[in-house]
Amino acid sequence: MRSRRAGLLLGAVLLLPACGTSFVDTLAAERSPAPQQPPATPSDGDCAGRAEPDPDRPVVELDVRLADDLRTVTGTETVVFTPDLPTGELVFRLVPNGPDPATAGNRLVVDAARGDDVAGSGYEDAGAEDPGGLYVVRLADRLAAGEATEVALDFTLTLGQGGFERVGAAGGVYWWASGAPLLAWEPGVGWARDPFVDLPGETATSPAADTTIRVSAPEALSVLMTGDQAEPSAPRDGRRTWTSVEPVARDVSVAVGGFDTASATSDGGVEVTTGVLPGADVPARELTAWTLAAIDELEARFGRFPYATLTVPLLPDDGGGIEYPSSILLAGADRLVLVHEVAHMWFYGMVGDSQFRDPWLDEAFATYAESIVFPVSEETAGQALDTPGEVGAGMDEFDTAGGYFRRVYAKGGAALLAAREAAGAEAFDAALRCYVDANAWTIATPDDVARALQDLPAALDVLIEAGALDE
Ligand SMILES: [Zn+2]
Repeated sequence: MRSRRAGLLLGAVLLLPACGTSFVDTLAAERSPAPQQPPATPSDGDCAGRAEPDPDRPVVELDVRLADDLRTVTGTETVVFTPDLPTGELVFRLVPNGPDPATAGNRLVVDAARGDDVAGSGYEDAGAEDPGGLYVVRLADRLAAGEATEVALDFTLTLGQGGFERVGAAGGVYWWASGAPLLAWEPGVGWARDPFVDLPGETATSPAADTTIRVSAPEALSVLMTGDQAEPSAPRDGRRTWTSVEPVARDVSVAVGGFDTASATSDGGVEVTTGVLPGADVPARELTAWTLAAIDELEARFGRFPYATLTVPLLPDDGGGIEYPSSILLAGADRLVLVHEVAHMWFYGMVGDSQFRDPWLDEAFATYAESIVFPVSEETAGQALDTPGEVGAGMDEFDTAGGYFRRVYAKGGAALLAAREAAGAEAFDAALRCYVDANAWTIATPDDVARALQDLPAALDVLIEAGALDE
Protein backbone atom coordinates (compact mmCIF):
# COMPACT_ATOMS: atom_id res chain seq x y z
CA MET A 1 0.00 0.00 0.00
CA ARG A 2 2.19 2.62 1.16
CA SER A 3 4.17 4.48 -1.31
CA ARG A 4 7.12 6.13 0.15
CA ARG A 5 8.64 8.71 -2.05
CA ALA A 6 11.75 7.17 -3.45
CA GLY A 7 13.65 8.70 -6.26
CA LEU A 8 16.37 7.99 -8.72
CA LEU A 9 18.72 10.83 -9.27
CA LEU A 10 21.36 9.88 -11.78
CA GLY A 11 21.56 6.47 -10.29
CA ALA A 12 21.81 7.65 -6.72
CA VAL A 13 18.98 7.01 -4.37
CA LEU A 14 17.30 10.03 -3.00
CA LEU A 15 15.04 8.98 -0.20
CA LEU A 16 12.91 11.90 0.78
CA PRO A 17 11.68 12.16 4.34
CA ALA A 18 8.63 10.03 3.88
CA CYS A 19 6.41 8.16 1.58
CA GLY A 20 5.61 8.58 -2.02
CA THR A 21 6.63 6.94 -5.17
CA SER A 22 8.49 6.00 -8.07
CA PHE A 23 10.73 6.83 -10.94
CA VAL A 24 9.54 9.86 -9.77
CA ASP A 25 11.46 12.61 -8.31
CA THR A 26 13.92 11.70 -10.77
CA LEU A 27 14.24 14.83 -12.70
CA ALA A 28 12.39 17.89 -11.63
CA ALA A 29 11.91 18.79 -15.28
CA GLU A 30 9.75 15.73 -15.73
CA ARG A 31 7.35 16.78 -13.04
CA SER A 32 5.20 19.00 -15.20
CA PRO A 33 1.94 17.30 -16.13
CA ALA A 34 1.51 15.93 -19.60
CA PRO A 35 -0.47 18.06 -22.01
CA GLN A 36 -4.16 17.42 -21.53
CA GLN A 37 -5.61 15.01 -24.01
CA PRO A 38 -9.27 14.19 -24.12
CA PRO A 39 -9.65 10.99 -22.12
CA ALA A 40 -10.77 7.97 -24.04
CA THR A 41 -14.17 6.63 -23.11
CA PRO A 42 -13.82 4.64 -19.92
CA SER A 43 -14.35 1.05 -20.77
CA ASP A 44 -14.41 -2.25 -19.02
CA GLY A 45 -12.28 -3.70 -21.79
CA ASP A 46 -13.09 -6.16 -24.49
CA CYS A 47 -12.98 -9.10 -22.15
CA ALA A 48 -15.68 -10.84 -20.23
CA GLY A 49 -16.41 -7.69 -18.22
CA ARG A 50 -15.47 -6.84 -14.71
CA ALA A 51 -15.70 -9.71 -12.25
CA GLU A 52 -18.20 -9.39 -9.41
CA PRO A 53 -17.00 -9.68 -5.81
CA ASP A 54 -17.36 -13.06 -4.11
CA PRO A 55 -20.89 -13.26 -2.67
CA ASP A 56 -19.42 -15.23 0.28
CA ARG A 57 -16.83 -12.55 1.06
CA PRO A 58 -16.46 -11.50 4.70
CA VAL A 59 -18.96 -9.09 6.22
CA VAL A 60 -17.20 -6.67 8.56
CA GLU A 61 -18.77 -4.15 10.94
CA LEU A 62 -16.48 -1.69 12.68
CA ASP A 63 -17.89 0.36 15.53
CA VAL A 64 -15.26 2.69 16.95
CA ARG A 65 -14.95 5.70 19.21
CA LEU A 66 -12.21 8.30 19.29
CA ALA A 67 -11.91 9.15 22.97
CA ASP A 68 -11.90 12.71 24.25
CA ASP A 69 -8.15 12.37 24.86
CA LEU A 70 -7.83 12.20 21.04
CA ARG A 71 -5.22 9.46 21.42
CA THR A 72 -7.29 6.38 22.16
CA VAL A 73 -9.63 4.54 19.82
CA THR A 74 -11.79 1.82 21.30
CA GLY A 75 -13.96 -0.37 19.20
CA THR A 76 -15.61 -3.61 18.28
CA GLU A 77 -15.09 -5.41 15.02
CA THR A 78 -17.66 -8.00 14.05
CA VAL A 79 -16.72 -10.39 11.25
CA VAL A 80 -18.89 -12.94 9.51
CA PHE A 81 -16.35 -15.19 7.84
CA THR A 82 -17.10 -17.92 5.32
CA PRO A 83 -13.87 -19.65 4.29
CA ASP A 84 -13.47 -21.25 0.87
CA LEU A 85 -11.13 -23.84 2.44
CA PRO A 86 -11.57 -25.73 5.73
CA THR A 87 -10.04 -23.99 8.76
CA GLY A 88 -10.18 -24.14 12.54
CA GLU A 89 -9.12 -20.57 13.28
CA LEU A 90 -9.30 -16.92 12.29
CA VAL A 91 -6.06 -14.95 11.93
CA PHE A 92 -6.00 -11.16 12.19
CA ARG A 93 -3.02 -8.94 11.37
CA LEU A 94 -2.28 -6.15 13.84
CA VAL A 95 -0.61 -3.71 11.47
CA PRO A 96 -0.05 -0.88 14.01
CA ASN A 97 2.28 -3.17 15.99
CA GLY A 98 4.70 -3.46 13.08
CA PRO A 99 8.40 -2.71 13.52
CA ASP A 100 8.58 0.35 11.28
CA PRO A 101 10.38 2.85 13.52
CA ALA A 102 7.92 5.56 12.65
CA THR A 103 5.18 3.52 14.29
CA ALA A 104 6.68 4.18 17.71
CA GLY A 105 3.85 4.80 20.08
CA ASN A 106 1.16 3.04 18.06
CA ARG A 107 -0.27 -0.02 19.74
CA LEU A 108 -3.22 -2.28 18.95
CA VAL A 109 -4.46 -4.53 21.73
CA VAL A 110 -7.29 -7.05 21.44
CA ASP A 111 -9.27 -6.92 24.68
CA ALA A 112 -11.66 -9.80 24.02
CA ALA A 113 -12.70 -12.27 21.34
CA ARG A 114 -16.32 -13.39 21.41
CA GLY A 115 -18.48 -15.73 19.38
CA ASP A 116 -20.49 -18.93 19.70
CA ASP A 117 -17.70 -20.94 18.01
CA VAL A 118 -14.74 -19.32 19.79
CA ALA A 119 -12.64 -21.73 21.89
CA GLY A 120 -9.71 -19.46 22.71
CA SER A 121 -7.44 -16.76 21.33
CA GLY A 122 -3.99 -15.25 21.63
CA TYR A 123 -1.18 -13.33 19.97
CA GLU A 124 1.53 -14.54 17.65
CA ASP A 125 4.72 -12.52 17.38
CA ALA A 126 5.33 -12.49 13.60
CA GLY A 127 8.30 -10.17 14.05
CA ALA A 128 6.20 -7.27 15.35
CA GLU A 129 6.30 -5.28 18.57
CA ASP A 130 4.54 -6.13 21.79
CA PRO A 131 1.89 -7.51 22.09
CA GLY A 132 2.39 -9.16 18.68
CA GLY A 133 1.73 -8.92 14.98
CA LEU A 134 -1.04 -11.50 14.66
CA TYR A 135 -4.08 -12.34 16.75
CA VAL A 136 -5.41 -15.87 16.35
CA VAL A 137 -8.93 -16.91 17.31
CA ARG A 138 -9.29 -20.68 17.70
CA LEU A 139 -12.65 -22.24 16.90
CA ALA A 140 -14.19 -25.11 18.83
CA ASP A 141 -14.80 -27.00 15.58
CA ARG A 142 -13.27 -26.71 12.17
CA LEU A 143 -15.31 -24.86 9.60
CA ALA A 144 -15.94 -26.62 6.32
CA ALA A 145 -15.52 -24.64 3.11
CA GLY A 146 -18.63 -22.52 2.76
CA GLU A 147 -19.56 -22.73 6.44
CA ALA A 148 -19.83 -19.36 8.20
CA THR A 149 -18.90 -18.21 11.69
CA GLU A 150 -19.29 -14.86 13.43
CA VAL A 151 -16.57 -13.47 15.67
CA ALA A 152 -16.43 -10.15 17.52
CA LEU A 153 -13.18 -8.56 18.68
CA ASP A 154 -13.06 -5.71 21.19
CA PHE A 155 -9.90 -3.69 20.73
CA THR A 156 -8.03 -0.62 21.90
CA LEU A 157 -5.78 1.35 19.60
CA THR A 158 -3.34 3.94 20.89
CA LEU A 159 -2.42 6.64 18.36
CA GLY A 160 1.28 7.48 18.41
CA GLN A 161 2.80 10.81 17.57
CA GLY A 162 3.78 9.90 14.03
CA GLY A 163 3.59 12.64 11.45
CA PHE A 164 3.37 10.36 8.49
CA GLU A 165 2.29 6.85 9.25
CA ARG A 166 -0.76 4.67 8.92
CA VAL A 167 -1.75 5.60 12.45
CA GLY A 168 -1.02 8.87 14.16
CA ALA A 169 -1.96 12.18 15.66
CA ALA A 170 -0.40 15.45 14.55
CA GLY A 171 -1.41 19.05 14.07
CA GLY A 172 -5.04 18.53 14.99
CA VAL A 173 -5.60 15.46 12.79
CA TYR A 174 -6.11 11.97 14.24
CA TRP A 175 -6.06 9.04 11.89
CA TRP A 176 -5.95 5.31 11.88
CA ALA A 177 -5.67 3.16 8.77
CA SER A 178 -5.22 -0.59 9.15
CA GLY A 179 -6.09 0.45 12.69
CA ALA A 180 -8.35 -2.50 13.47
CA PRO A 181 -7.50 -6.22 13.43
CA LEU A 182 -7.26 -7.11 9.73
CA LEU A 183 -8.68 -10.46 8.61
CA ALA A 184 -5.67 -12.10 6.94
CA TRP A 185 -7.37 -14.62 4.63
CA GLU A 186 -6.18 -15.27 1.09
CA PRO A 187 -8.96 -17.10 -0.75
CA GLY A 188 -7.72 -20.33 -2.28
CA VAL A 189 -4.55 -20.22 -0.14
CA GLY A 190 -5.41 -19.76 3.53
CA TRP A 191 -4.14 -17.55 6.34
CA ALA A 192 -1.38 -15.03 5.59
CA ARG A 193 0.99 -15.25 8.55
CA ASP A 194 3.82 -13.42 6.80
CA PRO A 195 6.38 -11.85 9.11
CA PHE A 196 6.60 -8.11 9.49
CA VAL A 197 9.73 -6.59 7.97
CA ASP A 198 11.66 -3.49 8.84
CA LEU A 199 10.90 -1.73 5.57
CA PRO A 200 8.55 1.18 4.87
CA GLY A 201 6.13 -0.93 2.90
CA GLU A 202 3.10 -3.09 3.45
CA THR A 203 3.11 -6.80 4.20
CA ALA A 204 -0.61 -7.49 4.62
CA THR A 205 -2.93 -9.67 2.57
CA SER A 206 -6.66 -9.25 3.08
CA PRO A 207 -9.82 -10.09 1.15
CA ALA A 208 -12.35 -7.57 -0.11
CA ALA A 209 -15.07 -7.44 2.55
CA ASP A 210 -18.59 -6.01 2.73
CA THR A 211 -17.81 -3.33 5.29
CA THR A 212 -19.79 -0.93 7.47
CA ILE A 213 -17.98 1.63 9.62
CA ARG A 214 -19.33 3.74 12.47
CA VAL A 215 -17.10 6.35 14.08
CA SER A 216 -17.98 8.40 17.15
CA ALA A 217 -15.89 11.57 17.40
CA PRO A 218 -16.02 14.90 19.23
CA GLU A 219 -18.61 17.04 17.48
CA ALA A 220 -16.20 19.77 16.42
CA LEU A 221 -14.26 17.33 14.23
CA SER A 222 -15.12 15.87 10.83
CA VAL A 223 -14.45 12.36 9.57
CA LEU A 224 -13.13 11.35 6.15
CA MET A 225 -12.88 7.61 5.68
CA THR A 226 -13.20 4.55 3.49
CA GLY A 227 -16.70 4.09 2.09
CA ASP A 228 -19.73 6.04 1.04
CA GLN A 229 -20.38 8.33 4.01
CA ALA A 230 -23.82 9.35 5.22
CA GLU A 231 -24.41 12.71 6.87
CA PRO A 232 -23.23 12.57 10.49
CA SER A 233 -25.73 12.19 13.29
CA ALA A 234 -26.96 15.27 15.16
CA PRO A 235 -24.61 16.18 18.04
CA ARG A 236 -25.34 14.42 21.29
CA ASP A 237 -23.29 14.71 24.47
CA GLY A 238 -20.70 16.64 22.47
CA ARG A 239 -20.25 13.92 19.85
CA ARG A 240 -21.38 12.96 16.37
CA THR A 241 -21.45 9.53 14.80
CA TRP A 242 -20.27 9.10 11.22
CA THR A 243 -21.31 6.06 9.20
CA SER A 244 -20.09 4.68 5.89
CA VAL A 245 -20.50 1.56 3.81
CA GLU A 246 -18.05 0.10 1.34
CA PRO A 247 -19.14 -3.26 -0.06
CA VAL A 248 -15.63 -4.21 -1.22
CA ALA A 249 -13.10 -2.87 1.30
CA ARG A 250 -9.93 -4.86 2.01
CA ASP A 251 -9.09 -2.48 4.81
CA VAL A 252 -10.27 0.78 6.30
CA SER A 253 -8.80 4.26 6.74
CA VAL A 254 -10.33 6.86 9.06
CA ALA A 255 -9.09 10.45 9.46
CA VAL A 256 -10.61 12.87 11.96
CA GLY A 257 -9.88 16.58 12.10
CA GLY A 258 -11.13 20.10 11.76
CA PHE A 259 -11.14 19.78 8.00
CA ASP A 260 -12.38 22.21 5.40
CA THR A 261 -13.93 19.84 2.87
CA ALA A 262 -14.87 20.07 -0.80
CA SER A 263 -16.92 17.49 -2.69
CA ALA A 264 -17.47 17.04 -6.41
CA THR A 265 -18.47 14.24 -8.75
CA SER A 266 -16.32 12.92 -11.58
CA ASP A 267 -17.53 12.54 -15.16
CA GLY A 268 -17.94 8.86 -14.41
CA GLY A 269 -20.01 9.50 -11.26
CA VAL A 270 -17.36 9.03 -8.56
CA GLU A 271 -18.03 11.27 -5.57
CA VAL A 272 -14.74 12.78 -4.39
CA THR A 273 -14.37 14.53 -1.03
CA THR A 274 -11.12 16.05 0.10
CA GLY A 275 -10.35 17.68 3.41
CA VAL A 276 -7.56 20.05 4.43
CA LEU A 277 -6.79 21.97 7.57
CA PRO A 278 -7.26 25.74 7.44
CA GLY A 279 -4.14 27.32 5.98
CA ALA A 280 -3.02 24.19 4.12
CA ASP A 281 -0.78 24.51 1.04
CA VAL A 282 -3.69 23.65 -1.22
CA PRO A 283 -7.37 24.52 -0.74
CA ALA A 284 -9.77 21.59 -0.58
CA ARG A 285 -11.47 22.70 -3.80
CA GLU A 286 -8.19 22.49 -5.69
CA LEU A 287 -7.24 19.15 -4.15
CA THR A 288 -10.63 17.84 -5.26
CA ALA A 289 -9.99 19.10 -8.80
CA TRP A 290 -6.61 17.33 -8.85
CA THR A 291 -8.23 14.13 -7.68
CA LEU A 292 -11.00 14.30 -10.29
CA ALA A 293 -8.39 14.86 -13.00
CA ALA A 294 -6.38 11.86 -11.81
CA ILE A 295 -9.48 9.67 -11.84
CA ASP A 296 -10.39 10.74 -15.39
CA GLU A 297 -6.87 10.18 -16.69
CA LEU A 298 -6.48 6.78 -15.11
CA GLU A 299 -9.97 5.63 -16.13
CA ALA A 300 -9.03 6.30 -19.74
CA ARG A 301 -6.25 3.72 -19.39
CA PHE A 302 -7.51 1.18 -16.87
CA GLY A 303 -11.31 1.36 -17.14
CA ARG A 304 -13.99 2.41 -14.69
CA PHE A 305 -12.89 3.63 -11.23
CA PRO A 306 -13.40 0.80 -8.74
CA TYR A 307 -15.42 2.59 -6.05
CA ALA A 308 -18.44 4.88 -5.81
CA THR A 309 -16.54 7.35 -3.63
CA LEU A 310 -13.02 8.53 -2.84
CA THR A 311 -11.98 10.59 0.17
CA VAL A 312 -8.62 12.34 0.43
CA PRO A 313 -7.74 13.85 3.81
CA LEU A 314 -4.56 15.94 3.70
CA LEU A 315 -2.38 15.22 6.73
CA PRO A 316 -0.53 18.12 8.31
CA ASP A 317 2.98 16.79 7.62
CA ASP A 318 4.67 16.21 4.27
CA GLY A 319 5.79 12.79 3.24
CA GLY A 320 3.85 11.09 0.48
CA GLY A 321 0.71 9.03 0.46
CA ILE A 322 -0.81 5.82 1.67
CA GLU A 323 -3.60 4.17 -0.25
CA TYR A 324 -6.61 2.51 1.31
CA PRO A 325 -9.81 1.30 -0.30
CA SER A 326 -11.70 4.40 -1.47
CA SER A 327 -9.56 6.63 0.75
CA ILE A 328 -6.07 8.09 0.55
CA LEU A 329 -3.98 9.52 3.37
CA LEU A 330 -2.11 12.26 1.56
CA ALA A 331 0.84 13.84 3.35
CA GLY A 332 1.90 16.83 1.32
CA ALA A 333 0.09 18.44 -1.60
CA ASP A 334 1.88 16.59 -4.41
CA ARG A 335 0.05 15.79 -7.64
CA LEU A 336 2.37 12.99 -8.65
CA VAL A 337 1.94 11.20 -5.35
CA LEU A 338 -1.81 11.67 -5.70
CA VAL A 339 -1.82 10.05 -9.15
CA HIS A 340 0.16 7.12 -7.72
CA GLU A 341 -2.28 6.64 -4.85
CA VAL A 342 -5.34 6.95 -7.07
CA ALA A 343 -3.83 4.26 -9.32
CA HIS A 344 -3.67 2.01 -6.26
CA MET A 345 -7.48 1.98 -6.25
CA TRP A 346 -7.16 -0.36 -9.24
CA PHE A 347 -3.91 -2.04 -8.14
CA TYR A 348 -4.25 -3.08 -4.51
CA GLY A 349 -7.80 -1.85 -3.90
CA MET A 350 -9.64 -3.73 -6.62
CA VAL A 351 -6.98 -6.11 -7.95
CA GLY A 352 -5.58 -7.21 -4.63
CA ASP A 353 -2.26 -8.88 -4.00
CA SER A 354 -0.16 -10.36 -1.26
CA GLN A 355 1.79 -7.24 -0.41
CA PHE A 356 4.36 -9.46 1.27
CA ARG A 357 4.87 -12.04 -1.48
CA ASP A 358 4.22 -9.96 -4.61
CA PRO A 359 4.63 -6.27 -3.72
CA TRP A 360 5.27 -5.41 -7.38
CA LEU A 361 1.68 -6.27 -8.27
CA ASP A 362 0.56 -3.06 -6.61
CA GLU A 363 3.66 -0.84 -6.40
CA ALA A 364 5.12 -1.40 -9.87
CA PHE A 365 1.69 -0.90 -11.45
CA ALA A 366 0.96 2.28 -9.45
CA THR A 367 4.40 3.61 -10.40
CA TYR A 368 3.82 2.70 -14.04
CA ALA A 369 0.51 4.58 -13.87
CA GLU A 370 2.30 7.80 -12.91
CA SER A 371 3.70 7.92 -16.43
CA ILE A 372 0.18 8.42 -17.83
CA VAL A 373 0.17 11.90 -16.31
CA PHE A 374 3.88 12.56 -15.77
CA PRO A 375 5.86 11.16 -18.71
CA VAL A 376 9.17 9.51 -17.91
CA SER A 377 12.16 10.04 -20.18
CA GLU A 378 13.67 7.06 -21.95
CA GLU A 379 16.92 7.71 -20.12
CA THR A 380 15.30 7.58 -16.69
CA ALA A 381 13.30 4.50 -17.55
CA GLY A 382 16.39 2.83 -19.01
CA GLN A 383 18.41 3.52 -15.87
CA ALA A 384 15.65 2.10 -13.71
CA LEU A 385 15.40 -1.00 -15.87
CA ASP A 386 19.15 -1.58 -15.47
CA THR A 387 18.81 -1.93 -11.69
CA PRO A 388 20.10 -5.37 -10.70
CA GLY A 389 17.78 -7.87 -9.04
CA GLU A 390 14.34 -9.29 -9.60
CA VAL A 391 11.28 -7.04 -9.66
CA GLY A 392 9.21 -9.94 -8.35
CA ALA A 393 11.05 -10.33 -5.03
CA GLY A 394 9.13 -10.65 -1.76
CA MET A 395 9.35 -8.16 1.10
CA ASP A 396 11.79 -10.38 3.00
CA GLU A 397 14.34 -10.19 0.18
CA PHE A 398 15.38 -6.56 0.59
CA ASP A 399 18.09 -5.31 2.93
CA THR A 400 17.26 -1.64 2.62
CA ALA A 401 14.30 0.59 1.86
CA GLY A 402 16.27 2.10 -1.02
CA GLY A 403 16.80 -1.28 -2.61
CA TYR A 404 13.10 -2.04 -2.29
CA PHE A 405 12.03 1.24 -3.89
CA ARG A 406 14.57 0.99 -6.71
CA ARG A 407 13.60 -2.50 -7.66
CA VAL A 408 9.88 -2.82 -6.98
CA TYR A 409 8.76 0.71 -7.80
CA ALA A 410 11.26 2.13 -10.26
CA LYS A 411 12.47 -0.99 -12.07
CA GLY A 412 9.01 -2.55 -11.88
CA GLY A 413 7.35 0.53 -13.32
CA ALA A 414 10.02 0.80 -16.01
CA ALA A 415 9.58 -2.87 -16.89
CA LEU A 416 5.85 -2.36 -17.44
CA LEU A 417 6.59 0.69 -19.62
CA ALA A 418 9.11 -1.34 -21.63
CA ALA A 419 6.64 -4.21 -21.94
CA ARG A 420 4.05 -1.79 -23.34
CA GLU A 421 6.59 -0.45 -25.80
CA ALA A 422 7.54 -3.96 -26.89
CA ALA A 423 3.99 -5.22 -27.31
CA GLY A 424 2.49 -2.06 -28.78
CA ALA A 425 0.54 0.36 -26.63
CA GLU A 426 -2.93 -0.52 -27.86
CA ALA A 427 -2.60 -4.26 -27.43
CA PHE A 428 -0.86 -3.90 -24.06
CA ASP A 429 -3.46 -1.47 -22.71
CA ALA A 430 -6.28 -3.77 -23.80
CA ALA A 431 -4.63 -6.78 -22.16
CA LEU A 432 -4.09 -4.84 -18.94
CA ARG A 433 -7.74 -3.79 -18.85
CA CYS A 434 -8.67 -7.44 -19.21
CA TYR A 435 -6.28 -8.30 -16.34
CA VAL A 436 -7.93 -5.67 -14.17
CA ASP A 437 -11.45 -6.81 -14.99
CA ALA A 438 -10.76 -10.54 -14.70
CA ASN A 439 -9.05 -10.18 -11.32
CA ALA A 440 -11.31 -7.57 -9.77
CA TRP A 441 -11.88 -8.06 -6.02
CA THR A 442 -9.55 -11.06 -5.86
CA ILE A 443 -5.97 -11.45 -4.72
CA ALA A 444 -4.06 -11.71 -7.97
CA THR A 445 -0.74 -13.45 -8.58
CA PRO A 446 2.02 -13.02 -11.16
CA ASP A 447 0.49 -15.98 -13.02
CA ASP A 448 -2.62 -13.85 -13.58
CA VAL A 449 -0.45 -11.16 -15.19
CA ALA A 450 1.24 -13.77 -17.37
CA ARG A 451 -2.15 -15.16 -18.42
CA ALA A 452 -3.41 -11.70 -19.36
CA LEU A 453 -0.33 -11.10 -21.52
CA GLN A 454 -0.13 -14.58 -23.03
CA ASP A 455 -0.80 -13.32 -26.56
CA LEU A 456 1.89 -10.65 -26.21
CA PRO A 457 5.14 -12.62 -26.04
CA ALA A 458 7.29 -9.51 -26.46
CA ALA A 459 5.78 -8.04 -23.28
CA LEU A 460 6.20 -11.32 -21.44
CA ASP A 461 9.86 -11.44 -22.43
CA VAL A 462 10.49 -7.99 -20.95
CA LEU A 463 8.81 -8.91 -17.67
CA ILE A 464 10.65 -12.23 -17.48
CA GLU A 465 13.95 -10.49 -18.15
CA ALA A 466 13.22 -8.02 -15.31
CA GLY A 467 12.49 -10.87 -12.94
CA ALA A 468 8.85 -9.87 -12.55
CA LEU A 469 7.52 -13.09 -14.07
CA ASP A 470 8.99 -16.59 -14.15
CA GLU A 471 9.90 -18.21 -17.45
ZN1 LIG B 1 2.37 2.85 -3.80
